Amino acid sequence: MSARIIDGKSIAASMRARVGAEVARLPAPPGLAVVLVGEDPASAVYVRNKGTATREAGMRSIEHRLPADASQAALLALVARLNADDEVDGILVQLPLPRHVDAQAVIAAIDPAKDVDGFHVVNAGLLATGGDALVPCTPRGCMALLREAGTRLAGAEAVVIGRSNIVGKPVAQLLLAADCTVTLAHSRSRDLPAICRRADIVVAAVGRPEMVRGGWIRPGATVIDVGINRIGTADGRHRLVGDVAFDEAAEVAGAITPVPGGVGPMTIACLLENTLVAARRRRGWKE
Ligand code: NDP
Repeated sequence: MSARIIDGKSIAASMRARVGAEVARLPAPPGLAVVLVGEDPASAVYVRNKGTATREAGMRSIEHRLPADASQAALLALVARLNADDEVDGILVQLPLPRHVDAQAVIAAIDPAKDVDGFHVVNAGLLATGGDALVPCTPRGCMALLREAGTRLAGAEAVVIGRSNIVGKPVAQLLLAADCTVTLAHSRSRDLPAICRRADIVVAAVGRPEMVRGGWIRPGATVIDVGINRIGTADGRHRLVGDVAFDEAAEVAGAITPVPGGVGPMTIACLLENTLVAARRRRGWKE
């Protein structure tokens, strides 16, 4: 292996500690409200981890659990209450929502100033136009990893694979804002290996286990693997792999994130950072 491993776990821990230190200097602890609808086990774990991390950073964690058959009207009423609650600085509605709920309508109902997931169209628009957006957490985490890895951004060729609203598109916007030349690839892109081979930076956000092969990576490139895929092992268990064939890519890349332990831990750290940013802006607290 020649690539340097970008240790998301330790970078995220430093970021959380930094947020905690800044929270300790605020006049009051920021409040983060997390809404969980239904019993999806993965979502329940995420929500629990978010609550723990929020409290560890000295913030108030407010959890609302609604049954899986909660109506859209009930969810919208809860969001309206949280919007109006002055003690709540950030609102996160855990996705995915049950199928009978229109997730876009729920996101649209969140006060953009409290939209710590950065999914509201106002924040997406601010990000696209260079304004003061609340930036989606995983993309923000990708940028923090690139900066920590010392990757040169200005003028770099960056290829993002995946064009979702929550990862691919905002990552592309952030790379563009950092003066990269950005290619946003997707399932209809022609000759993806050739597109990747010209990249100084590859961000893979696809959801396909180990799709990006070592031969797609330009020697010395930085590889950020957002993918989290559970695959079965020969002994009947499961393990997590990314969208990049790690062992192959690590032979060629200059720096690479592992899965787990790369982008994953950054998402919660960036959520805490976003909550701090939202609280400061809303309450007029200076940095
Ligand atoms: P989506 O399913 O919303 O988007 C996947 C994207 O990948 C789409 O744009 C799709 O293209 C593209 N794609 C699918 N197949 C191919 C292919 N064969 N070649 C090229 N592009 C392809 O996923 P998300 O963006 O929500 O998530 C992506 C991955 O990141 C998942 O593994 C998810 O678990 C992980 N994730 C990790 C997070 C973390 O905290 N680390 C947070 C969020 C997500 P098209 O648009 O053409 O269909």
